[in-house]
Amino acid sequence: MNSTRWKKPSLDDPIQFIKGVGPKKALLLQKLQLKAIEDLLYFLPFRYEDRSQLKTISNLIPDEFATFIAEVTSSGIIYMGRRKRVFEVIFQDETGTTRAKFFRFNETNMMKKFQTGEKLIVFGKPTVNKRNQLEIVHPDTERITDETTVPLEIGKIVPVYHTTEGLHQKSIRNILNNVLEKYLPLVEEVIPEDLLLRHKFLSRSEAFNQVHFPASEDHTAKDLAKFKTPAQKRLIFEELFLIQTGLAFKKKHAGEIQTGTAFKTRGDLIKHFINLLPFQLTKAQKRVLADIMEDLEKEKPMNRLIQGDVGCGKTIVALITLFTGVDNEKQTALMVPTEILAEQHYLNIRPYCDALGIELALVTGTLKGKEREAVYQDIESGKTRITIGTHSLVQKEIKFKNLGLAVVDEQHRFGVLQREALGKKGNNPHLLIMTATPIPRSLALTIYGDMDVSLLDEFPPGRQLITTQVFYEKQQDKAYELMESQIKLGRQAFVVCPLIEESELMDLKAAVTIFESIQERFPELSVCLIHGKLKKEERQKIMARFLKKEIKVLVSTTVIEVGIDIPNATVMIIEHAERFGLAQLHQLRGRVGRGKHASHCLLVSYFPISEEGKARMRAMQTSRDGFDIAEEDLKIRGPGDFMGTRQSGLPILKIANLIRDIKILDVARKEAFALIDRDPNLKNSENQLLKNAVQRLLGNHLSLMETI
Ligand code: ADP
Ligand code: MG
Repeated sequence: MNSTRWKKPSLDDPIQFIKGVGPKKALLLQKLQLKAIEDLLYFLPFRYEDRSQLKTISNLIPDEFATFIAEVTSSGIIYMGRRKRVFEVIFQDETGTTRAKFFRFNETNMMKKFQTGEKLIVFGKPTVNKRNQLEIVHPDTERITDETTVPLEIGKIVPVYHTTEGLHQKSIRNILNNVLEKYLPLVEEVIPEDLLLRHKFLSRSEAFNQVHFPASEDHTAKDLAKFKTPAQKRLIFEELFLIQTGLAFKKKHAGEIQTGTAFKTRGDLIKHFINLLPFQLTKAQKRVLADIMEDLEKEKPMNRLIQGDVGCGKTIVALITLFTGVDNEKQTALMVPTEILAEQHYLNIRPYCDALGIELALVTGTLKGKEREAVYQDIESGKTRITIGTHSLVQKEIKFKNLGLAVVDEQHRFGVLQREALGKKGNNPHLLIMTATPIPRSLALTIYGDMDVSLLDEFPPGRQLITTQVFYEKQQDKAYELMESQIKLGRQAFVVCPLIEESELMDLKAAVTIFESIQERFPELSVCLIHGKLKKEERQKIMARFLKKEIKVLVSTTVIEVGIDIPNATVMIIEHAERFGLAQLHQLRGRVGRGKHASHCLLVSYFPISEEGKARMRAMQTSRDGFDIAEEDLKIRGPGDFMGTRQSGLPILKIANLIRDIKILDVARKEAFALIDRDPNLKNSENQLLKNAVQRLLGNHLSLMETI
């Protein structure tokens, strides 16, 4: 036996184990977040170059990558201007000549490489220069010798990886080649065999092999670009399948692990409350409430998401749910993202609570001293039945006596952790999540895949048309004229000022400037400024005066974004609209069109506007439907940044793309849920590797470690 200890190779091995990776390259690779072998397997090319088809020089097309074989007829340094040295090579084949230019080079190496008469394979993108000639800047070249076929670079489809300074594309290709050679045999299959057979998937190791170094057939290059090769499809499926298996597992077992309290529903309190309402519930509200009541009647805690566009009447649904908790002698809580919204809910709910004799409390960050102590005391003693608050609800100091139900409004503003923290304040309370952010189905299935979902897809009757217009730069006057004419008709207006940076103070400064210029321009109008730095009392006063129509124009920072309900307001001016995200614009627009009158959303934009900015303006003008807008947003931004998905517990996807791969997602989801039905605990031996992989992928995200 050898004295040095031999360790079995594994995919967790550090990258230094690979031939060609010394300490220096390892550091560079670390910059790319590559530490273990497995990271490298998943370090997928971000594009491919098709070098498999040989061209001739006369067939070169500007701006199209091409590979051709040619002879060097001359080479050397030329000067462009006085200082700029360029290395130029003239290539020739039987059809013609073309030139290549190198701006960064080592003269000795170049002279050696490009000797006259040398025959090379050249790969590059010809462009047309100022003198209207074709030239190729920095082509890749490879010598042709009789016995060697060039291994990785030429004559095939070549992967292109993201790289970092000091690490050449060629080195990365070499490293990956070495990784695959040594470690592919260690790649274990995670998809159960029957699934592999039914879908005719490639094996996992073959998929890795081909995704890095695709064998080329006629259509391969095109398929690669569309992520449609068998290797890509297999890896995409795998990623989505693992996530969905985790979600299916979690959903299946949530009820077994947690037992809460079954509620009696539709009690007298609720009937009483519904009688107090000045309107009839919509069909959609009734349907969603029926879903909720069915959940509440079970011991398994409710875990339901309500999706409903801005203004469709989620608050009433929340209230009836809260009152059901109260009717069952439990404490309940409503968590919302901003203080203003918490205050507004409090003011709205208060009359009903007073009429029904229910103790209500408001908890926000501004609560101080004796008042705070008293409020906390009443929550702890159980006297308070409904607590409304911001995320300050989850702080340590707040202890509920018997929290049985929690509602979280505008969920996308909270992370999973806050949501779970609120749940931990009680003994497996029923949980209702409400979001006005229309999450595209594909994302919803991934982020909220373990929740039950109800759609509130109907607006209360008499909803008004909202016209959306974009005004560029100097046209802003027109927007304000329109505002003035609406105010003359007795209506009111919001003017929202942009987010400057992540700094509230900067926002405020911009808002003050806009506020002052509006005041100056319309001295006879009562204009008021509201922002997050104002004291609670002052804000409440302003909101109350606005509601009473004493204030005509409310200038605001984005604090009013969510939830504010002023039916008489018919104008929403958004200053610097180009700086807002689509979801935010849509939310803001939802503040108007809530009363009897047609409304206007006026987007004032300033140059320069990015392409994305323009796309957002267009999307706002063409659609009022939140789901369309969300799909559009997802396309413009990509799933990574979509509306706080980073914090919502979605693992970062390595290869799948929730827009492009929606079909694969559907199949993966179906298969995953079917599998968990067949083998709820993933006990069967053929599912062991799958189980490990799910744990590895989702352990941190879904607290699966505790549950499997
Ligand atoms: P969101 O879903 O954005 O939270 P809200 O709950 O604030 O919407 O409701 C928007 C407006 O619609 C409120 O003024 C509310 O009183 C009103 N509303 C809710 N349900 C109905 C209904 N069934 N009929 C008429 N008006 C309703
Ligand atoms: Mg709301």
